[in-house]
Amino acid sequence: MNTAVSLQNVRKVYNNVSVVDDLSFEIDRGEMFGLLGPNGAGKSTTIRMLTTLTKPTEGHIQVAGYDVVRQARYAKQCIGVVLQQVSVDVDLTVWENLEYHGRLHHIPNPERQRRIDRWLEYVELVDRRDALVKTLSGGMKRRLQIARALLHEPQILFLDEPTVGLDPQTRRRLWEIILDLNKQGMTMLLTTHYMEEVEYLCDRIGVMDNGKLIELGTLHEFRAKHGEGIVVKQAGERLDYQFFATVEDANAYLDRQPDKTGMMVRSSNLEDIFVELTGRQLD
Ligand code: ADP
Repeated sequence: MNTAVSLQNVRKVYNNVSVVDDLSFEIDRGEMFGLLGPNGAGKSTTIRMLTTLTKPTEGHIQVAGYDVVRQARYAKQCIGVVLQQVSVDVDLTVWENLEYHGRLHHIPNPERQRRIDRWLEYVELVDRRDALVKTLSGGMKRRLQIARALLHEPQILFLDEPTVGLDPQTRRRLWEIILDLNKQGMTMLLTTHYMEEVEYLCDRIGVMDNGKLIELGTLHEFRAKHGEGIVVKQAGERLDYQFFATVEDANAYLDRQPDKTGMMVRSSNLEDIFVELTGRQLD
């Protein structure tokens, strides 16, 4: 079985509104998949359904071959989850949080202690083992969440906005951890509204807006489809963007303009394509 995650015509309705609307896509084993979209697009709701925290109103979801509604218990054993809000207990120590999670997953000793040691070392929190979680920095808390999500050795890791609110250096460190885990074979789905995070980390990207998947593919495919070259033109207060198949085509267009004032050519990036798709800028 090569499919790690599959969604078929998934819908989630809150207060008569479809906040996730007819969502269908698959993630292969070992893939790093990024779900990108503005706030309110439905990314967190999608993660919550994938991780059994809320049920789809319609449609089918499988993770690691298990139906998340009918076989939730098995599905849960195969996944690790790092949620947006800090979900570790801040009044417990680092070790106590991991110990508690390990017991919940019925990991017996001495194996439980071996794994706690291993993952604490991996996320570089060994020296904080006995510190209360409330004394940790934001980046350390996020690393603890990752260690906890890995303790029961899941096949698939879900990360909801893993680096939101972290400083650039801490974000880079988390990216390294995420890339390394993926290199070790972990399938990953992460949601984000940071373009550079998706560009740097993800094999494939799904763009969500208003609960719908509006684009799916690799950045390479997106650029081939929408255009690899772009002419930017200052139009009063605004910038106008015009896509061209290649940078050469964009340059040729610029050369033909009698007045080139305020115009420049560059390669297109994910943000350009996102704005083209949604007509909106992310914050
Ligand atoms: P994102 O993660 O892309 O920012 P969310 O999935 O958090 O988007 O939210 C999508 C929409 O669903 C938003 O309009 C949000 O207000 C709504 N929503 C999310 N959870 C609930 C809930 N428990 N009850 C009602 N509405 C909700």
